[in-house]
Amino acid sequence: MRLILLGPPGAGKGTQAARLVEKHGIPQLSTGDMLRAAVAAGTPVGIKAKAVMDAGGLVSDEIVIGIIADRINEPDARKGFILDGFPRTVAQAEALDSMLAEKQMKLRAVVELRVDQTKLVDRIIKRADEARAAGQPVRKDDDPEVFKTRLEAYNRDTAVVAPYYEKRGQLTVVDGMKPVDDVTAAIVKALG
Ligand code: AMP
Repeated sequence: MRLILLGPPGAGKGTQAARLVEKHGIPQLSTGDMLRAAVAAGTPVGIKAKAVMDAGGLVSDEIVIGIIADRINEPDARKGFILDGFPRTVAQAEALDSMLAEKQMKLRAVVELRVDQTKLVDRIIKRADEARAAGQPVRKDDDPEVFKTRLEAYNRDTAVVAPYYEKRGQLTVVDGMKPVDDVTAAIVKALG
């Protein structure tokens, strides 16, 4: 089963992906997590990506497409995967199409978590507070100002990805403002 979760930062993609991982036994492929790991490890990709990520911009298509191309070849991704945070541009969506076609793989669903963007900054402040309370590190890009830049990047480059899939009849829109369990139920329904 291959699923794409779309939606702005803070929409709940990571939360929902983690729940589906447990239910379906397939990995969550989060380009954000992979990039943060590359930054922490100080790899050449991490060194290139760090400043862009800290500023809330998008890392180059070339880098993230390369990361995903490698990751979907790993044995644990053979049965399927949940893409969280990729594709974020039409170029990335097109590259993914070619990769899947080459492997004769199909997407089961593309789900857009639709949210009220005016509520997202509050959500992100809550996420940072919860991380702090749990003694976990707070993401640098969850700073409210950087978050606004991330939202701008979403509206400029990523908002066009959902219509890309909609045109092909592959998109399901889910109300991401509903309680977490309801959102999970709606995604499970979309998976058929
Ligand atoms: P996320 O954890 O998905 O919010 O991603 C954190 C940051 O990593 C983003 O703000 C971008 O700087 C970068 N990033 C993650 N995924 C992508 C992607 N598919 N394309 C470009 N940049 C990405």
